[in-house]
Amino acid sequence: MKTKALYAGSFDPLTLGHLDIIERAANLFDQVVIGVVVNLEKKTMFTFEERMEMIKEATAHLENVTVDMCDGLLADFVNKNKFNVVVRGLRGMSDFDSEQQMAQLHRYLYENNTETVFLMADSKYAFISSTMAKQVISLGGRGENLVPPCVLEKMKGRLNK
Ligand code: ADP
Repeated sequence: MKTKALYAGSFDPLTLGHLDIIERAANLFDQVVIGVVVNLEKKTMFTFEERMEMIKEATAHLENVTVDMCDGLLADFVNKNKFNVVVRGLRGMSDFDSEQQMAQLHRYLYENNTETVFLMADSKYAFISSTMAKQVISLGGRGENLVPPCVLEKMKGRLNK
């Protein structure tokens, strides 16, 4: 059976932590789709199109990875596209509670025996979040160890306007 995995998130913006999870998922599964969430309640730094573009550029080296729009209820998207696996990254106990709750809820909502699979964050990236990267870079801190080069360039361009 070919394994088709979804890695969904807001990616506002994509960080090196996200990219590490994507590269590892691409080694594990036949096909990985990055689902970029469109309708976010929170205000984003980057538009949906910008987030999508940056992810495409940062993952261009991964042949089995594609980027798609994830709209509405995640479970509907998962069921409609028949994903076998939904990948999540775990940075530590702060992620654990909410991720456990979501995974348990999704067991009731997923059809086709879809499983949530957790990949433990690499210790090099476990401290990184999109929010923290935005704060550091907007205050002039170094971003090379936080986000991929194409994201850093875009963020710096935005801040210099
Ligand atoms: P959300 O809006 O769902 O929080 P994010 O874009 O922040 O989406 O994250 C998507 C997924 O990536 C989540 O499973 C999250 O735990 C994981 N993740 C976020 N940052 C990291 C990181 N630094 N290392 C590993 N996984 C991460």
